[in-house]
Amino acid sequence: MSKPSINWHERAAVLKIDGRPLIGGRRVEGLSGEQFDCISPINGKSLGSVTRGQAADIDAAVASARAAFDDGRWARKPPASRKRVLLKFAELILAAKEELALLETLDMGKPIQYSLSVDVPAAARCIAWYAEAVDKIYDEIAPTGPNALALIQREAMGVIGAIVPWNYPMIMSAWKLGPALAAGNSVVLKPSEKSPLTALRLAELALQAGLPEGVFNVVPGFGHEAGEALALHRDVDAIGFTGSTRVGRKMLEYAGRSNLKRVYNELGGKSAFLVFPDFDDLKRAAQTVAGSMFFNQGESCNAPSRVLVHADIADEFMAMVAAEAPKYTVGDPLDEATVMGALVDEGQLRTVMGYIESGVADGARVLAGAKQTRQASGGYFVEPTVFEAQPQMKIAREEIFGPVMSMMRFKDEADAVAIANDSPYGLQASVWSSHIDRAHRVARALRAGTVHVNQYDEDDMTVPFGGYKQSGNGRDKSLHAFDKYTELKTTWLRIN
Ligand code: NAD
Repeated sequence: MSKPSINWHERAAVLKIDGRPLIGGRRVEGLSGEQFDCISPINGKSLGSVTRGQAADIDAAVASARAAFDDGRWARKPPASRKRVLLKFAELILAAKEELALLETLDMGKPIQYSLSVDVPAAARCIAWYAEAVDKIYDEIAPTGPNALALIQREAMGVIGAIVPWNYPMIMSAWKLGPALAAGNSVVLKPSEKSPLTALRLAELALQAGLPEGVFNVVPGFGHEAGEALALHRDVDAIGFTGSTRVGRKMLEYAGRSNLKRVYNELGGKSAFLVFPDFDDLKRAAQTVAGSMFFNQGESCNAPSRVLVHADIADEFMAMVAAEAPKYTVGDPLDEATVMGALVDEGQLRTVMGYIESGVADGARVLAGAKQTRQASGGYFVEPTVFEAQPQMKIAREEIFGPVMSMMRFKDEADAVAIANDSPYGLQASVWSSHIDRAHRVARALRAGTVHVNQYDEDDMTVPFGGYKQSGNGRDKSLHAFDKYTELKTTWLRIN
């Protein structure tokens, strides 16, 4: 047993939860008075009550965001002033690291060591990155003619509705907030009902940093209630959505039924990881695929859940991956040594176990795991699971969003590319080959927003993140994210 530097259980016992919406710069009571219990997946117990936001709460938040946008209290501040406030916001996130990390772990079950070392720093880095960027972007003058001047400027879009999932609650919020706020928009954020707590704290920290009241509002609640009301709202100019492909489809319908607001969807994935026999370090490939797959309990949109391996090395490579899987020991998320925590809720546990059962029923071969574990804790835990599967099996086609990997054999390069691309998703992919031509040839042929070559875990705020096909449209991160939250305005002048 590792000796924790902080007793997180003691801290959790005295943690105060405030689940009320933050609208117009203050915590308010929900207008309907309805609440829901925020259940911790670590033990199945309630952390406290959270407001079950309804359309009336969304109306109030959007009105507050609209008023803040229209009077220019944020949008018309010079970029350098917005930058100062957002840098302070990032600083306050880091200063609140322990509290935010504890909330994140209690709320969605990830190991505390990663909440501390990944989620909080990444959220702060994202806000700081857009803050730093915003006073370094110049507008353009079009190359028209000698008697005309055409200025092309980016303007803030207005009120942005941000709807985010539960798997990286703070990071996903930051990916929307960073570019939207830096560009001068107002935001109404609807966090997932499964993990609403850190978003509410982020809004308080933003206010403390000097963000004017009304610019950043958070309404917790369910998707079909608060989420739908936000996506249907006629005074919302764009929706930045991250979540499932099923709900992403609804976002487009809501926009069509309301005001044709812009919809930017960042959706699901079933990313393929292709291993060729000419790759000279299979052990590193096996360690990487297991690490990337089982990080965050497999609850990552870009988890490499389809592993395609050349028939000549398949037995060897599958055995290596099967030996890696048990190293991701499932444990108490509040123990600093734990590397794999709880699934987000009982429903997700049932979904994941249902997929495991379907894999077994379809004749997939269990190479590791495939069992629920730690039942005595009252929480929702599943062992890291590896199957040898066939490409048409349900476990190999559908996004499971849990710690379940499907490994498959291919016979040649064309076969590998065909299996990899035979998916409605196109978020990420990875090719492992020591042959430079093959690596580039396959990287070009793969229909995915990001292709990794001989690695999987490089990440940086400077690179766009998003998918082809039904993995979404638009891109989070990088300067490209500003495209989502700004309009281009052309101003023509005649010069006599
Ligand atoms: P989800 O689609 O069920 O929910 C996402 C958000 O949408 C939540 O806030 C939810 O309350 C809300 N919502 C649900 N129904 C709604 C409705 N009818 N109207 C409006 N809002 C609604 O997804 P989830 O289970 O929270 O997250 C998992 C999914 O997110 C996976 O598919 C995963 O791949 C995806 N994801 C994608 C990325 C990416 O960048 N592409 C990143 C993280 C997660």
